[in-house]
This record gives sequence, structure tokens and C-alpha cells, in this order.
Amino acid sequence: MGMSFCRNCGEKVNESQNFCTSCGSSLKVYEENEYQNYYSEHNVVEDKAGCFTIGIAFLIPLVGLVLYLVWAQSRPQSAKSIGFAAIIGFIVDIIIWSALLSLGVY
Ligand SMILES: [Zn+2]
Repeated sequence: MGMSFCRNCGEKVNESQNFCTSCGSSLKVYEENEYQNYYSEHNVVEDKAGCFTIGIAFLIPLVGLVLYLVWAQSRPQSAKSIGFAAIIGFIVDIIIWSALLSLGVY
């Protein structure tokens, strides 16, 4: 390590430098941004499904199921609430549909 490339002009720069010798853009800012991006992506992921997402899962169980599968690994707590909402929504859907069918609406 030690050498990297300027994000602005692509010139080879030394990592210890604060500014690119070719175009003069700050190299330090990029590093700090990268660190913040990494931090927000990996450490500050709030593992809690929002009311809106749960509502969607409840109304459209298929969406809830997809979200459950997507979040099963990265956000187990959210996946659990979403999966639960989807199951409840699915049962409610069946009840509503069977009620409509027995009433002869369709
Ligand atoms: Zn540059």
C-alpha cells in the first residue's frame, strides 16, 4: 500500500498526501467520506422494521415474504416482524376472500 489514485483526475498519488499533486483536489476528504459511508453501511443499520414497511407486508403478504427473505441474514429482527405481519396479512386476506366468495360477490 502507500500509493493510490486520485478520484478526481486518476493520477497516481501517495496516500500520505492531503492533496493531489496533479489537480490539487483534496484526497483527505474522500477518505473521510469513505469511512463515513462504511460506518453507516455496516455499523449503524437500525434493525427495526418501520410501521410503513410492516403495513405494506400486512396488506401485500407477498411483499412481506420477499422482504423477509432479503432481510433474513442482515436484519433478523426486522425480518421477524415483517414475516409475522405477512403471515397475519395472509390469514386476513384468506378470511376476507372466503367471506366474499361465500357471500357470492364474485
Ligand atoms: Zn488529481
